[in-house]
Amino acid sequence: MRNLLSDRINNMATSATLAMADKARELRASGNSIIGLSLGEPDFTIPDFVKQAAIDAINQDYHSYTPVDGYVELKAAIIEKFKRDNTLTYTPSQIVVSTGAKQTLYNLAQVLLNDGDEVLLPAPYWVSYNDIAKVAGGVPIEIKTNIENDFKVTPQALEAAITPKTKMIIYSSPCNPSGSVYNRTELRALADVLVKYPEIIVVSDEIYEHINFTSAHVSMASFEDMFDRTVTVNGVSKAYSMTGWRIGYMGAPEVIARACNKIQGQVTSGANCIAQRATIAALENPPSRIQYMVDAFKERRTLILNLLAEIPGFKTNEPEGAFYVFPDISAFFGKTLNGTKIESATDFSLYLLEEAKVATVTGEAFGDPNCIRISYAASNQDIINAMKAIKEAVL
Ligand code: PMP
Ligand code: GLU
Repeated sequence: MRNLLSDRINNMATSATLAMADKARELRASGNSIIGLSLGEPDFTIPDFVKQAAIDAINQDYHSYTPVDGYVELKAAIIEKFKRDNTLTYTPSQIVVSTGAKQTLYNLAQVLLNDGDEVLLPAPYWVSYNDIAKVAGGVPIEIKTNIENDFKVTPQALEAAITPKTKMIIYSSPCNPSGSVYNRTELRALADVLVKYPEIIVVSDEIYEHINFTSAHVSMASFEDMFDRTVTVNGVSKAYSMTGWRIGYMGAPEVIARACNKIQGQVTSGANCIAQRATIAALENPPSRIQYMVDAFKERRTLILNLLAEIPGFKTNEPEGAFYVFPDISAFFGKTLNGTKIESATDFSLYLLEEAKVATVTGEAFGDPNCIRISYAASNQDIINAMKAIKEAVL
């Protein structure tokens, strides 16, 4: 009998972040009290000035299809934002608005990759890069990093991974899941390698740009010699707490932007019109309006790092941005905790869910089998309770 489902979907992994969130939701529905530290989802409400713009848009009867690549006014706001925050100069034909940065990344893989093209992923990487590349026929090539080096890829490791088949590199800074932020010198050192290989497209995922507790954010495209082959990806999910509104965008070489516009025209017809109007308000306002959320994330980082330091077996570095810690928990491998044998990060993450009632995500999904990811986009009280429960579960 013929298979019902395509090889394409059968070969695709389920998103580990969303799967864990679903699992936590199911357990809650059956009466368990679960602390959800698996999803990278700010717990703040959307700023009032953004909400108001959406309400106004509904009252002004915005209802029809938008231009496939986004409202002209939104593209103008994005261009201004790129100038203001990133010293990048894009024209309207280089901007495409999508249904979340996730779709931006999916579009890029679809329009850039042929079967067998290699996609470099400094590991740990955000969980979906791998399958987004694979479903487009790409071959993900992981570049290992380590916790001692703050999970940052070195120029030497980058160059060693490049082959004649390399088509693309995707990285995020600030990084999901490690929280690492590449400073200007580090990024320039990577650019110095990449300039030697002009055919490689760089996808710089800057969705955590504002959630940065260290040096100023640097965009790869702000280096003049990288601008023409770099795609700058961003979105409003994280900085504006708009995860469910599903707006992402990119600045890209025009030929790539046109191709993404074309695929969107066949697949979604463009992003939601009300969410686009709200995004104009979000981006037109200076980032200082959302600083209170960044300050809160910084305090929570200190809180969670202090609590984790008291749990034996957790090796943690200091993340510089985003809202994740990515501890190495390999000290537990081979041990039996309350009758459960721990052989892997997945076992450990599932054990924490069962025993401590805390949802985390296995590092295996991010290309690092020694770690788990803990999101601290949660209240102080949830963080305190979760760390206490984890400590009790592993002692
Ligand atoms: N990139 C990174 C690094 C992320 O963590 C996320 C999380 N959602 C995304 C892209 C996608 O964001 P969204 O689709 O919500 O804009
Ligand atoms: N990006 C977030 C995370 O990594 C949200 C979930 C997802 O889109 O995968 O948890």
